[in-house]
Amino acid sequence: MDVRGCAVQAWVFVGPEFFQNKNSNFFETSTCFPDSNVKMKTRYWIKNMFIRKLTNGESLERKWLLYSPAKKSVYFYCCGLFNTTTGIGYNLSSPNGYKDWKHISNLLIEHENSLQHREFMMNYVTRMKTTGRIY
Ligand SMILES: [Zn+2]
Repeated sequence: MDVRGCAVQAWVFVGPEFFQNKNSNFFETSTCFPDSNVKMKTRYWIKNMFIRKLTNGESLERKWLLYSPAKKSVYFYCCGLFNTTTGIGYNLSSPNGYKDWKHISNLLIEHENSLQHREFMMNYVTRMKTTGRIY
């Protein structure tokens, strides 16, 4: 196994929750911008975004979504792991992450519904089985 393959193996073994940083200080993600009336507004990442609200009213935990305190951005575990730089919301698939908080909620859903994201999730499940880890 090469170095990258070995790193992926280690990540799969540890699992996403280790990298989620759900209790970080999200205030550090805040950005200021002028609105249409040239008043300054602030946007930042909110912890609630780790929960996906379904149209039928149910809530699902986004356990695959990670927050990077270093980059002050979010990205998806599986897609970051299998390293793609294309597809819907490709920044969500790279450890550089995504931090356009204005568009994040729509983009998350669009990305989660994309074929590529689903493929990487399946990829992860397969790898998990071979490392003997059941999530
Ligand atoms: Zn993804």
